[in-house]
Amino acid sequence: MINNMKLKSSKPETEKRIEEIFSNSPNPKEIKKVKKLAMSKNIKISDLRKKFCKKCYSLFNSKNSKIKIKKGFKIIKCKKCEYISRYKLKK
Ligand SMILES: [Zn+2]
Repeated sequence: MINNMKLKSSKPETEKRIEEIFSNSPNPKEIKKVKKLAMSKNIKISDLRKKFCKKCYSLFNSKNSKIKIKKGFKIIKCKKCEYISRYKLKK
């Protein structure tokens, strides 16, 4: 019984872990893992999603991405794989 409880980490715990991973500049492999983890626990990572490339899972920084704001959209271009992500800006 006790073992069972330890095996299944709770949703808040997983959320905390995800945040921790992201604050430590994760590599693409780690980001992939986080995405899987979030999906398995039904955790929404909409804010974190904007921090990495959807295609190659690189964490965006000033060197590997180009950000443009256009008509209420935030457009992020990944310089590694050329993938373009678009996000609607909140009003
Ligand atoms: Zn990319």
